[in-house]
Amino acid sequence: MPEDKPLVRAAWEQALTGNQVEIETRVQRPNGELRWFRRVFYPYADGSGRVVRIDGLMEDTTNAKTMIQRLHTLATTDALTGLPNRTLLNDRLIQAIAAAQRDGQKQIVLMLMDLNHFKEINDTLGHSAGDEVLTLVAQRLRGTLRDTDTLARLGGDEFALVLPDIAHGRSTAERVARKVLQCFHAPFRVAHNELFLGTSIGIVIYPEHGTDIDTLMSRADVAMYSTKNKDPGFMFYAPVLDPNAQKHLQLSADLRHALARDELMLYYQPKIDLRTGGVVGAEALIRWRHPQLGILLPEMFIPLAERAGLIKPITDWVIHSTIKQCRQWHDAGHRLRVAVNVPGRAFQDPSLVGNVSSALLGLSAAPECLEIEITENVLMSDTGLVAKVLRDLTELGITIAIDDFGTGYSSLAYLKQLPLHTLKIYKSFIIDMHNDENDAVIVRSTIDLAHNLGRQVVAEGVETKEAWDLLWVLGCDGAQGFHISRPLPADEFTHWLKTSPWSTAPLQ
Ligand code: C2E
Ligand code: MG
Ligand code: MG
Repeated sequence: MPEDKPLVRAAWEQALTGNQVEIETRVQRPNGELRWFRRVFYPYADGSGRVVRIDGLMEDTTNAKTMIQRLHTLATTDALTGLPNRTLLNDRLIQAIAAAQRDGQKQIVLMLMDLNHFKEINDTLGHSAGDEVLTLVAQRLRGTLRDTDTLARLGGDEFALVLPDIAHGRSTAERVARKVLQCFHAPFRVAHNELFLGTSIGIVIYPEHGTDIDTLMSRADVAMYSTKNKDPGFMFYAPVLDPNAQKHLQLSADLRHALARDELMLYYQPKIDLRTGGVVGAEALIRWRHPQLGILLPEMFIPLAERAGLIKPITDWVIHSTIKQCRQWHDAGHRLRVAVNVPGRAFQDPSLVGNVSSALLGLSAAPECLEIEITENVLMSDTGLVAKVLRDLTELGITIAIDDFGTGYSSLAYLKQLPLHTLKIYKSFIIDMHNDENDAVIVRSTIDLAHNLGRQVVAEGVETKEAWDLLWVLGCDGAQGFHISRPLPADEFTHWLKTSPWSTAPLQ
């Protein structure tokens, strides 16, 4: 091959200096076929050291080379899907870690995912249908990723994804995780069936969650198991999720005392009416003022509270404190509706409606001061019970919002039938809508969908003026996000209400 000529010339010149040289070059046959040859040059020198003869040896190594290549492929590829296997994934991770260490700035994202209910497909439709599903999943996932990302099948229904060389680990990971989840929105057609599948994604970031492969893999696994059957379908590793971590046990013990020791507190983030620019409400967001660890965000302890059976007393406390705070704001002339987040397990608790109504009565607060945010998963869980609780709450005068809309699988029928007041669009869609056409489409369609169903629609994660302007054009009703204000402790929120330009607009 002409490209190999300089290599041959250099080898020849080396041989002329008296050194034995070995090179591998390609030769093109008249029929176009490329073959590999190993060439060795053996120089012979006379008494004065001058090279007087060079013997050459040329050997066709094509077959051996193809064989090695094939063995390498077999050893590193998953036979069913053609994706890299665990060995190759480990190689790529090692390379990515080495590059990130040299660079000192870059991060690596590792995601582990497995399919929800895959075993049922294998059991009911047979293994060949299961294999077909895995192949289709691999194709869809591959289609959404960049060439530099490694998607691997680790075995069974488990896949892994490595994104090397990332600057903003968390936000990139969140965006990619959402893209992966979107791949599962359309059904998979297998053996004359239309199958709807889901996946659970556990995410770790190098170096934040670990600097070696074993730690990263096992922590991604912990995150993956923690996100099973929960919205939004992916989760970053956090020490509290780790059932083995000593710290986690300690935190769980601490959490049992947090309520009694008055360590939980609520921050409030305003919600603005996009038409009038006035403050219409707020969302109560829980924080834990841990005596040693400082202020902990909900993702650090709410999953723990769920596992430790503490979510009910915490939810009751959140509802009671919110109503009390709202009552104070009403008395001061701020007519706000404040939303609380009620997770699935607390929502299905039979005492919820009674607790809410007695808290309202006990604090002589109007029911209009309270909104309850639930996620789409709650709607899908036990629809009979959920529908009854929703109706009872609505009869009290409380409104219901669906939080993080777009990350779960609500059926249109439920959205129509159930007394839901507001859809809140998941923050990542809003944050990315300027860069990602798919997200812009999701935002636009959600706004239209909500309005067609006669519901209000609120965007969370409004971080910029551009996002605000676009939402205004799209006809979104409400907005919440850092562009307006970060979540604030109650007294700072009260101060904000008095001084912020947003709240000078007429109240609704
Ligand atoms: P969420 O209900 O969807 O709350 C919105 C989250 O987005 C909050 O995170 C808020 O601080 C954050 N956020 C608001 N504006 C922006 C923005 O412009 N950009 C970005 N990037 N983020 C923004 P936070 O407070 O960490 O809460 C996280 C989640 O924890 C909440 O998501 C909710 O699901 C849960 N949570 C919060 N408070 C409670 C609670 O009292 N009880 C329960 N069970 N869960 C809670
Ligand atoms: Mg919420
Ligand atoms: Mg939300």
